Amino acid sequence: MEKRINVTRSSMPSFEEYCEEIRDLWESHWLTNMGVKHKQLQAQLEEYLDTPHVILYTNGHLALENVIAAMDFPAGGEVITTPFTFVSTTHAIVRNGLVPVFCDINDTDYTMDVTKIEGLITEKTVAIVPVHVYGNLCDVDAIRKIADKHGLKVIYDAAHAFGVSKNGVNAANMGDASMFSFHATKVFNTIEGGAVSFRDDMVQKMNDLKNFGIRGPERVAYVGGNAKMSEFQAAMGICNLRHVNGEIAKRKAIVERYRSHLSGIPGIRLCDDQPGVVHNYAYFPVVFDGYKYDRDEVFAKLAENNIVARKYFYPLTNDIECYQELPTAGAEKTPVAKFVADRVLTLPLYADLSMHDVDRICDTILA
Ligand SMILES: *Cc1c(COP(=O)(O)O)cnc(C)c1O
Repeated sequence: MEKRINVTRSSMPSFEEYCEEIRDLWESHWLTNMGVKHKQLQAQLEEYLDTPHVILYTNGHLALENVIAAMDFPAGGEVITTPFTFVSTTHAIVRNGLVPVFCDINDTDYTMDVTKIEGLITEKTVAIVPVHVYGNLCDVDAIRKIADKHGLKVIYDAAHAFGVSKNGVNAANMGDASMFSFHATKVFNTIEGGAVSFRDDMVQKMNDLKNFGIRGPERVAYVGGNAKMSEFQAAMGICNLRHVNGEIAKRKAIVERYRSHLSGIPGIRLCDDQPGVVHNYAYFPVVFDGYKYDRDEVFAKLAENNIVARKYFYPLTNDIECYQELPTAGAEKTPVAKFVADRVLTLPLYADLSMHDVDRICDTILA
């Protein structure tokens, strides 16, 4: 059996680089609570993402849950979102006492179909939570227009879009707020971690939400929770940020190799780069639509050859067990998302994946 190829592999600095970065923590004994590393990473990310405010969190999910909470929407408000995402997006809405209303996706880049948003708006709608899925940017201009017309907030789940920009505008500056995930499997990681960027001045509230609403030694002004990023996570981020551009360049070369094998094959659909967009090559989704084998057969064939692909995103979040009772649930209401979810695989992709392995994966699919 040839060696196992996993779907992803976390980026890490050298052991020595990380040890050097955490050395001062043994001198200071300051392990969390917005210490030196936390402040340093925050400033570096504000620069890297070219955005005025970045607040760090212990993971992306709590960042999203908290930024939605910070908007103080009335309970029972409706939020238009996509079912073609990781469950975190939908959970963050529901855990805030809001109702997800699922909008279908388009079949070119799999982001929200902007022509279907207005038909879902009711007097209860408070926000739109789209996802830059696979690092493909949503049609942010169309979404902004619709939101402005109806007085809605736009909060992007940008978990996949670290480092992505369009015509010089970073994904961090789109919408009223954006959430990034720095989970181990993402393009840039802090082991677990996440961040929020935002336009309006929400700094106080976002800080309150992640640190118990504590504003001073004897002052607690807000009913916040705890979602702080620790110094060890931040140190990992400081190290990984030094290498992230190189990692993205390697990912790009791998994607180009995949495309050279798989584009133009009947029944295989790939995502193209979007015009004007600098991509991060976070994922390599392939849709098997009329190929000689269906998605599940390709998945099984790859597994037999010790290659791990992922049915990402299947099932849709409007089709999972915990939302069965939700009146807006049901994959049949979002037919394009259902079509794609039934046919998509994301192939292994990480910076150190070898070209030889890419060739082996493609040979297996094409055999
Ligand atoms: C990873 C991810 C999240 C959650 O991020 P965590 O850092 O794992 O909590 C949210 N949404 C999407 C689309 C994701 O891929």
